[in-house]
Amino acid sequence: MLPYGRQSIDDTDIAAVTEVLRGDWLTTGPAVAGFEAALASWTGGVPCVSVTSGTSALHVAYAAAGVGPGDEVVTSPMTFVATASTAMLLGARVVFADVSDDTANLDPRAAEAVLTPRTKVVTAVDYAGHPADYAALRPLAREHGALLAADAAHSLGSRLDGVASGALADLTSFSFFPTKNATTGEGGAVAVADPGLLDRARRFRCHGLVREAERLRAPGEGGWHQEVHTFGLNYRLPDVLCALGTSQLRRLGDFKARRARLVARYNELLAGVDGLRLPVARAGADPMWHLYAVRILDGRRREVYDRMRAAGIGVQVNYIPAYWHPVFEDLGYRRGMCPVAESFYAEQLSLPLFPDLTDADQDRAVEALRDILA
Ligand SMILES: *Cc1c(COP(=O)(O)O)cnc(C)c1O
Repeated sequence: MLPYGRQSIDDTDIAAVTEVLRGDWLTTGPAVAGFEAALASWTGGVPCVSVTSGTSALHVAYAAAGVGPGDEVVTSPMTFVATASTAMLLGARVVFADVSDDTANLDPRAAEAVLTPRTKVVTAVDYAGHPADYAALRPLAREHGALLAADAAHSLGSRLDGVASGALADLTSFSFFPTKNATTGEGGAVAVADPGLLDRARRFRCHGLVREAERLRAPGEGGWHQEVHTFGLNYRLPDVLCALGTSQLRRLGDFKARRARLVARYNELLAGVDGLRLPVARAGADPMWHLYAVRILDGRRREVYDRMRAAGIGVQVNYIPAYWHPVFEDLGYRRGMCPVAESFYAEQLSLPLFPDLTDADQDRAVEALRDILA
């Protein structure tokens, strides 16, 4: 089965990993800072904190923002459930606001309608790699005393009006799962410019531990002494995986060019096909396309999904609206809440898109789709 997404690993990636395996540090060593510095060169210089997954990156971002019981987090339902579940686990209430029909990104007007004095964070999701409307979301969040977060699991390498993903919000989370734009197997990161938020993010990643002499409550205890002032977890990304990440980032420019080329080919080869709507980019957006997300019209999405899979083309659906998960249903969230997201979901299909996808395999996917829709 042709996958809808997969990693690209070459000999330089393998050499980078084996070099660390032969060294002194498997974790908490120099490859961590090296990866974070390489990542910051993709976030417009905004400092990055590496963590064990995109999910832990979201958890760290919300914890750094101080999200807790009594707070609300406003986000898009057109996302992987972790964007919402990590805020719920911290005791906050997630409020879903609808998306724009063209990008499937959080609609600033829908977000504005649900902002309250309890809103702690507004989290946009850069669906398919297309940056959300940060120019509209930033003043909205600020006026309501909320922080702006970006779930940029799809959009490492994207830009909006010349500004890199990672520099568009107060807190940005990335994922390095194998299907994403660059991989460490499992992994993630938070990009955050504010020194206070950055310090809280770093501390949450490592048990909340305080080691700096000037901050200790009992500085005279002894050289071994360290203290926990706030609870945290172990979300450290090991050196072995950071080395893979640094190597992947050296290839990210090539990945972006190949993804752009494949998207241009899809756009050409599928132009004018009846029953199909193709993705578009807004003016000012320079997406690193993570998904090629088409819409299958006339109620045929289920049929097309099944027939593409039967033809060996591993299409995917991204995503069921997050509040459709039974865990939200059991908490009283109801279908119909975000109608634009629900109709987007009803038609959405992701076609294969990854840097090592060959033109021939792409042609095969296009042919299969054209045949089904003919
Ligand atoms: C992949 C993804 C996540 C979670 O990342 P993991 O690394 O799989 O934990 C969160 N949000 C979105 C939008 C994602 O695509």
